[in-house]
Amino acid sequence: MEKIYDLLVIGAGPGGYVAAIKAAKLGMKTAVIENREVGGTCLNRGCVPAKAMLHAAKLYQEVLSGEQFGILVEEVSFDYGKVMSYKNETSESLRLGVEQLLKGNKVERLQGIGTLLKDGRVRIKTKEGEEILQAKNILLATGSKPVLPPIEGIHLPGIMTSDEMFQLDHVPESLLIIGGGVIGVEFATVYSSFGSKVTLLEAEERLLPGLDKEISQNIKLLLKKRGVDIHTRAFVQKIEKVDCEFICTFLEKGKDQEKAEVRKIPYLLSATGRIPNTHGLLEETTLLEMDRGRILVNENFETSMPNVFAIGDVIGGSQLAHVASSQGICAVERMNGKEPSIDLSVVPSCVYTDPEIACVGITEQEAKEKGIETVTGKFLTHANSKSLITKEERGFVKVVIDKETNVLLGAQMMCARATDMIGEMGTAISNKLTAMQLLKAMRAHPTYNESIAEALEDCNHGAIHAL
Ligand code: FAD
Repeated sequence: MEKIYDLLVIGAGPGGYVAAIKAAKLGMKTAVIENREVGGTCLNRGCVPAKAMLHAAKLYQEVLSGEQFGILVEEVSFDYGKVMSYKNETSESLRLGVEQLLKGNKVERLQGIGTLLKDGRVRIKTKEGEEILQAKNILLATGSKPVLPPIEGIHLPGIMTSDEMFQLDHVPESLLIIGGGVIGVEFATVYSSFGSKVTLLEAEERLLPGLDKEISQNIKLLLKKRGVDIHTRAFVQKIEKVDCEFICTFLEKGKDQEKAEVRKIPYLLSATGRIPNTHGLLEETTLLEMDRGRILVNENFETSMPNVFAIGDVIGGSQLAHVASSQGICAVERMNGKEPSIDLSVVPSCVYTDPEIACVGITEQEAKEKGIETVTGKFLTHANSKSLITKEERGFVKVVIDKETNVLLGAQMMCARATDMIGEMGTAISNKLTAMQLLKAMRAHPTYNESIAEALEDCNHGAIHAL
């Protein structure tokens, strides 16, 4: 007999598993189908392993510079195998946590490939065979996968995406990364910290092209200082393989001239974006509206099929774990006739470089383009006590305030703990708090987030600890 659920989720990434738990908490009989490990890209091939590697890389650099704190360590070195074990164990322990949460919330966990049939039912293909499942609501949360750019030679064996990069069991002596977005810049940080000679190619005018210009300029300087060979407006023409090495030919377009460059390199990472993953998800004749591979949804995450919802990377937009989870919660709330509890228009975005980068809301430039008059406050963190104590003084905090209403519109930070501090700014923007309201609360001393108050003061009469 067919089982009938209130909610059947396909994909147990941060979108799917969070939605399933939320649904169970709201009393829905829920099951989640996953064909690999729970936690999806984020826990297994994305956020978590990347941040574990970045943490180890930062720690190594800190130990190397321990002398400035009076800490003397003779012969500092690292064991990359152990770095990999630490990364794997971190993912494993979070995965186990998710499994326990699903179990504890009585979410049925089904292992196999889920396919949405054209009659609105779901087929699950397991090792044992096939089963047809029925649910009042279906949530598609199958995520995304790396995409390779249309470059001659890009499919040569040995060219890696982030998926393969996490499996590498040694630090490459040299590495060429195509793509200077978040993933490319984070891998460049990891491997340059461990001593690789990294070359980073970006087709746009600047690294991290989606972020504030000043952040792009600073990250370029910082990576250059680490020895990363950076080329912007660099267009890869072709990749060849001779013996065990890749020969990468690219065109670098300067202001007045073009320059052809060639790099001979043993390791090549393509970090050029991700596409929605609908492989195996849809029966051929399923009439689900799609646009260039992504599933189309309305503001309630409803697809073109009744009672079929979709969230996360598979619907495109901001491909971030917290976006997928928040959309999952809101979609489940909608299924239960509730107003969404999360403001999905305010999306923090972070890059875990050293120093960290974090942004939320709009930049000064974006406000200008929208015709909003703003005041920008900025504080250089070299005058922040905590940053001085920890010798992480390089960086800044910027806030963008609506000139007329004094409401905070955006914040951009590049400094220690920026990724933690951005939360306060997101809360303020979602709740339309003014600079004055934000300044009302005292901040503990010495903390990094005193820099936020200073940047806000800068919009007012000027920061206290700045001339
Ligand atoms: P996914 O996490 O991709 O999960 C989808 C799941 O569905 C997968 O487990 C897949 O196996 C399963 N699935 C697919 N098809 C089927 C099927 N037919 N049947 C059953 N199961 C199926 N985001 C951040 O917010 N912060 C970061 O720091 C960050 N760092 C990243 C670093 C890297 C290197 C990468 C690659 C990504 C990073 N991301 C980060 C992005 C983040 O990982 C994704 O946005 C997030 O995982 C998307 O969640 P999701 O639930 O939509 O999909």
